[in-house]
Amino acid sequence: MRPIATDALAEQICSQVARHMRNVATSAGIAVPVQMLSSFGQLAAAVSLPSLASSAGVYIRSERKIYLNQPALLSYSSKAQAAILAHELGHAHSDYIGALPAIYGSQTTANSAEEFYAERMACVWGFFDGVREMRIQSGAHAEYLSALTEWPDEGLYLQRMGRYFLRKASGIVT
Ligand SMILES: [Zn+2]
Repeated sequence: MRPIATDALAEQICSQVARHMRNVATSAGIAVPVQMLSSFGQLAAAVSLPSLASSAGVYIRSERKIYLNQPALLSYSSKAQAAILAHELGHAHSDYIGALPAIYGSQTTANSAEEFYAERMACVWGFFDGVREMRIQSGAHAEYLSALTEWPDEGLYLQRMGRYFLRKASGIVT
């Protein structure tokens, strides 16, 4: 799994992430195109999902392509930016493998299962520090950050993430 820039603006971050992932064996042959946009306002997906407009990155399944939102991305450190791209590659990975591992089936929604998967793959691929930094900057709850540190143990990680999201959904943690 490696990112391929489709424009000059995406080249630096793609080569940074590809370099970091050069020893990653997972689906090594798959190249995912990455395009840098000056705004997500022009993305068709942002019409149905307005929160997307302020996101730093998104994987569009129908195009099998990652888009990066330059202004949002540049508000992060270089390390966190790489983690954002790695997280989107995690979404691409879940798309390419077809179905998430059975262990993810216990999650409340398919959407949260895929988020947990993408987030963990970024950690598996060596971007944990950047993921953590990115989540702290975007205001993640301490319980989320604590669950994140369990990524090496997939079962425990899912248990902790699932528990946090249930508590959040029921208003126990805000
Ligand atoms: Zn995601």
